[in-house]
Amino acid sequence: MGKSNDGVPRDLEDRTSLVTGGARGIGAAIAVALARRGARVTVWDRDDASGYPAEVADAIEARRVDVRDGSQILEEGARALARTGTLDILVNNAGIQGRTAPIGQQDDETWERVISVNLTAVFKTCRYFAPVMQRAGGGRIVNIASYAGLHGTQNATAYSASKGGVISLSRALAKELMTSGVTVNCVAPGLIETDLLDQMDRDYIETIVAKMPMGRMGTADEVAATVGWIVSPACSFTSGGVFDVTGGRLIA
Ligand code: NDP
Repeated sequence: MGKSNDGVPRDLEDRTSLVTGGARGIGAAIAVALARRGARVTVWDRDDASGYPAEVADAIEARRVDVRDGSQILEEGARALARTGTLDILVNNAGIQGRTAPIGQQDDETWERVISVNLTAVFKTCRYFAPVMQRAGGGRIVNIASYAGLHGTQNATAYSASKGGVISLSRALAKELMTSGVTVNCVAPGLIETDLLDQMDRDYIETIVAKMPMGRMGTADEVAATVGWIVSPACSFTSGGVFDVTGGRLIA
């Protein structure tokens, strides 16, 4: 295994991967991290994805896909498989925060939208690609959860429930696939500085930052580095895990 100029191991050479919500934020950082390690990356996002660093831009194919739409998952999934033959790595990253407000002020529309993007879409992509990986005899699924999914975050009931659901779904699927060579893990970030924060009240963000033991938010690259390792051959004996990227919040 070689290393790229910046010292990144080329341990995903020719692996095929899919990152949802990879147009910006944590997903874009993950797409770039996988490409730097040698993977061929497909990005699905509602937005046009561009602006990846020149040295990896050729390795990343961006497709406009709304992961809430099951028919788009089927259509674009078939397209991706026709192009690459198989899928080695699936990263379910697309997610939304929804309105932060006390439960009495939450509406049905927010609940349904948050659950459909953050949880139902994860179920649908796993349902499509896990059997493909099983047939191939191996693969890596990483689902981006959240600190909120483990402990709950006040005024974010739909978001917390959706991320808790992602963790339970991932553990159930990990058990189902345990002897197949396919691992299923979650990453649970704490507060990470991305555009997602625009969906939150300022006061809400300040309250959470004040609770961050390292005294700062995390970066998208710090989450991406964790994902890069989980999908690498080095991470071969962990499935059903929830990787903490919270800057110490989990033990605070
Ligand atoms: P961003 O809002 O910066 O990026 C999310 C991307 O996902 C956007 O490009 C967004 O497109 C896309 N997306 C949203 N809905 C869909 C959809 N239905 N179909 C396809 N693409 C979609 O968020 P982050 O990078 O911060 O978050 C990434 C993941 O990390 C999410 O699952 C989030 O819950 C999780 N996370 C983030 C934390 C944080 O503090 N930032 C903390 C813990 C977890 P569009 O702009 O059109 O919405």
